Amino acid sequence: MSDNTLEIKNLHVEVEDEKILNGVDLEISKGEIVALMGPNGSGKSTLAKVLMGHPAYEVTEGEAYFKGENIFELEPDERAHLGLFLAFQYPKEITGVSVSNFLRTALNSRRDDDDEIDPVEFQETLHEQMELLDIDKEFANRYVNEGFSGGEKKRMEVLQMAVLAPEIALIDEVDSGLDIDALKIVARGINELTGDDMGTLLITHYQRILDYVEPDTVCVMLDGKVAKKGGPELAERLEDEGYDWVREEAAA
Ligand code: ADP
Ligand code: MG
Repeated sequence: MSDNTLEIKNLHVEVEDEKILNGVDLEISKGEIVALMGPNGSGKSTLAKVLMGHPAYEVTEGEAYFKGENIFELEPDERAHLGLFLAFQYPKEITGVSVSNFLRTALNSRRDDDDEIDPVEFQETLHEQMELLDIDKEFANRYVNEGFSGGEKKRMEVLQMAVLAPEIALIDEVDSGLDIDALKIVARGINELTGDDMGTLLITHYQRILDYVEPDTVCVMLDGKVAKKGGPELAERLEDEGYDWVREEAAA
């Protein structure tokens, strides 16, 4: 077991007494982008939510190890402290709290109490990341999510990921309603940030975002299980032929 890998083993999950995940095996390592694809209802978002610690989702069997810890034994904030990041963790709207202040607080909550980041140093980091992601400087002074467009919420999410510098990022793309600009923002964030220090699990129903992000591994979720693994060419085949052939192959 390596400290660089989130290792999900034989994961079974129930929601309201209904089995949703039926033995998921999946690994995400620093330095790689793993795309998790699959038809609607196959359990992709359930996987993201249970890794995040969403209370509605009950782990009935299996583990997920990171740095020697079974993360299901940790509280959500302890998982974040360990270096996991789940997109969509931003709060709805926080009137009176600027993006800059929110991100500084979030960053400090990940650090030890006696190791709070120097405000000047934080501003430098923030501006660096905003430049890297091509986000307007003025954005830092706006109130979190207040009146944000869909694209701006995505920017917020990606900026949060950049500032928190997680080791494993789990990103669940909303399957519909993401316009091309928002897709590009997410793609840019993933491409800029994935590297020796970070690995990414990108959950997506559509092949579209993979025009902008090249995954190292493509996994297909079917009926609550990872039914197939391959390289980028697998995503192309899914785009051309849909998911039926994977189902047939899995049944054979
Ligand atoms: P995907 O993200 O692949 O489209 P989901 O994980 O959202 O799939 O859903 C998988 C299955 O679990 C679906 O049948 C869905 O209806 C069910 N499900 C997910 N979350 C809940 C919930 N909170 N309550 C009841 N059923 C749920
Ligand atoms: Mg989903």
